[in-house]
Amino acid sequence: MEINNIFDLKALISSSKQISITTHTNPDGDAIGSSLALYHYLLGQGREVKLVVPNKYPEFISWMPGNDDIVIYEDTPKRAREIILSSDLIFHLDYNAIDRAGSLKVVLNESNASKVMIDHHPHPNQEDFDFLYSSTETSSTAELIHDFLHDLGDEDPLNQDIATCLFVGIMTDTGSFSFACNRPETFMVTAKLLATGIDGEWIHRMVYDTFSEDRLRLLGYSISEKLQVFPDSATAIISLSKEELKKFNYQVGDTEGIVNYALSISGITMAVLLTERKDRVRLSFRSKGAFAVNEIAANYFHGGGHKNAAGGDSFDSLDKTIEKLIDLLPLYKENLLKSEE
Ligand code: MN
Repeated sequence: MEINNIFDLKALISSSKQISITTHTNPDGDAIGSSLALYHYLLGQGREVKLVVPNKYPEFISWMPGNDDIVIYEDTPKRAREIILSSDLIFHLDYNAIDRAGSLKVVLNESNASKVMIDHHPHPNQEDFDFLYSSTETSSTAELIHDFLHDLGDEDPLNQDIATCLFVGIMTDTGSFSFACNRPETFMVTAKLLATGIDGEWIHRMVYDTFSEDRLRLLGYSISEKLQVFPDSATAIISLSKEELKKFNYQVGDTEGIVNYALSISGITMAVLLTERKDRVRLSFRSKGAFAVNEIAANYFHGGGHKNAAGGDSFDSLDKTIEKLIDLLPLYKENLLKSEE
């Protein structure tokens, strides 16, 4: 069925036998939060709905209501495949191209379901989807889900489960309301979430105050031993090898947030965290102001993302990747220094 507008989609939601919700590989707080929120909403509408994510995600976002219902493709590929292939409508949340679904993309490409994207990343891949609900101005996919439910014609779609999940999405994608939140709308939506009676302070603690001792020591080590600062190009880099991660008993999510400490140095415009993984080096970029890190991620490191927060991969060695990155700095020097004001 062709989906020309939100009314068509509303009809399709009502007539679908099974709906799936999916998100990008290495799901973050916004991916899991927005997916679970939509899940609770559709369940509340009496729909048959399932949630499939490509791979594991950190402990600190594994506690939201409905978490146990999430099917992880990497753990149970057969079950995940069955769900996707028996769905007639699939939502793609917090990602804008099927490619971003990692190993799950093969199954998604096999499916004949109607595909709907709800996302806030720039440059969506239009051919991948039948309907796009996209805004790059919005803080998070979670905030977009709020708008989406409203646009479906539901004046009062929130309950505490939905509000908890959306709060996690907005909070994590704005770094606890410190970036990507200059629009009043973000705070108006957040106010509505809190008005349901959820405990925002408790949610904040659940996400941010749950470090293991190893994780905190890894953070300390990264800053005191591994930080490289390049004042001439307003850039700071932290790199962590496989051995170093192992030494601190690395768990998924333990490097989350480290890059922000590098960016917090006065006069630094771009921060990059490089972590050596099994088969690749993962790069996490952050920037301040007008400097767009998603372009560097896309042009040189098979990645992309937002202007001020992006990610990429390198298939060279860690040392080679660091070298490549440092060699790029002179090209961007002028804009890096300009952006710093
Ligand atoms: Mn997001």
